[in-house]
Amino acid sequence: MASKAAQRVYVFDTTLRDGEQSPGASMNLTEKLEVARALELLGVDIIEAGFPITSQDDFEAVRAISRVVTRATVAGLARCVPKDIDRAAEAVAGAARPRLHVFLATSRIHREFKLRKARGEILRLAVEGVRRAKAACKDVQFSPEDAARTEPEFLAQVVEAVIDAGAETVNIPDTVGWATPDRFKGLIEYLFENVPNIDETVIAVHCHNDLGMAVANSLAAVQAGARQVECTINGLGERAGNAALEEIVMALRTRPDAFGGCWTNIRTERLYPTSRLVSRVTGLVVARNKAVVGENAFAHESGIHADGVLKKRTTYEIMDPKSVGVAKSRLVLGKHSGRHQFRQRLKELGFRLPTKEIDQLFFGAFKELADRKKEIFDEDIEALVESEASTGPEAWHLCGIQVATGTGGMPTATVELQQLGKNGRTRDAATGDGPVDAIFRAMERITGIRLTLRDYQLRSVTGGKEAQGEVRLEALCGKQTVSGRGVSTDVLEASAKAYLAAINRAISRAAGRSVRRSKKRVGKAKG
Ligand SMILES: [Zn+2]
Repeated sequence: MASKAAQRVYVFDTTLRDGEQSPGASMNLTEKLEVARALELLGVDIIEAGFPITSQDDFEAVRAISRVVTRATVAGLARCVPKDIDRAAEAVAGAARPRLHVFLATSRIHREFKLRKARGEILRLAVEGVRRAKAACKDVQFSPEDAARTEPEFLAQVVEAVIDAGAETVNIPDTVGWATPDRFKGLIEYLFENVPNIDETVIAVHCHNDLGMAVANSLAAVQAGARQVECTINGLGERAGNAALEEIVMALRTRPDAFGGCWTNIRTERLYPTSRLVSRVTGLVVARNKAVVGENAFAHESGIHADGVLKKRTTYEIMDPKSVGVAKSRLVLGKHSGRHQFRQRLKELGFRLPTKEIDQLFFGAFKELADRKKEIFDEDIEALVESEASTGPEAWHLCGIQVATGTGGMPTATVELQQLGKNGRTRDAATGDGPVDAIFRAMERITGIRLTLRDYQLRSVTGGKEAQGEVRLEALCGKQTVSGRGVSTDVLEASAKAYLAAINRAISRAAGRSVRRSKKRVGKAKG
């Protein structure tokens, strides 16, 4: 077997770039920084922070992330175009370990229809792009976009040329989720056999999940010698998403026999808390049956299975829930629990929060909850922190709701909101098809923001009659998808919080866009 160092697989996380591009997943700067810190704590080797040329917001985010991340490499994405490369270089310049990631499509369909360029031209642009990036940054990665559909002999030519030009990592993307494990493994093996200078670079893969094979394809590539995998938390990403980081990491860890002892530097106990964080800031729910981090991933319903696990855990569990950071549900706190106990439990659950923030932001909310609910479980505490954690100032704050409903009647809601920076509160009422609809209509009247609801889900956070309800919803504001989440012992209040969160997101998005527009105008005026 090869040496341990040779079996090290580098984890390149692109939650903040590819993941953030997925519909409804955009994050603001505060949220991106929170995720970047969590990724570093998780032990990710490279964080792809964004695509700086695409907008001022993206540029600022990459620059800010470069400043806070100290151990991981921070990568900025760029097309093989001088202005892209220069902009990305500027954004990552402040990082302790900066990387430029340049890409250019190589497949026939992209060459002919998207780029309208011949093979020779593609080869020349790729080499020029890598050289330009190399002049600005020591660490350069190149990706031949749509590599999985590129003619293998041309792909080998491109890979050889960019390694010669100085690319320290060459990533082979399956941009459209076309690959199958055996063929993709074959392609990586072909490159190892036909690219003479391949030992001077790290071969990476970036797989999409259109046919549900992103993780399988990534792992097949590792078997063929790839030593960097690009992935995202919860498998977020364009369309059906990217390979899920947690699945790749746990597959390597659980089955070293199948993957030649390949290993990563990920602190697996941080997988579940990181997954929850990303789900909270993006508003995208993790499916209950999602591998490794889904709510049911370690639940045993069948009597035979549950009995087996009690006798010996490994009869039906191939991973220890603790190893991925899933805390066993316990009755933890109640009305009489003090500050210290609360802080201690938060720490055990994996939240790293400043004491001041805990006391100011969360302890009051916890006491309020304890007044409404006798027994407080771990899930309640997680839900509380996730809903109270600050994501920047909210444009509108919920002061109160009053709902009148009944069979055969006309549901009516009165809502009171306070606008950021204004003293007085605004109150209005509306009727609707049901009580939830009436609340939404009243909020629209006050804020002037009209959303089209696309999805509304209500679930209970824990078992029991007095369990808290969690509402997650997705709505359209113009063409933008916005999401919102709210938790309360009262499901109507949870609905109101979720809808208002979506309204606040729509407002902050619109503000970001108008800043960008006015900057563009200034740019034009300067000529
Ligand atoms: Zn991608």
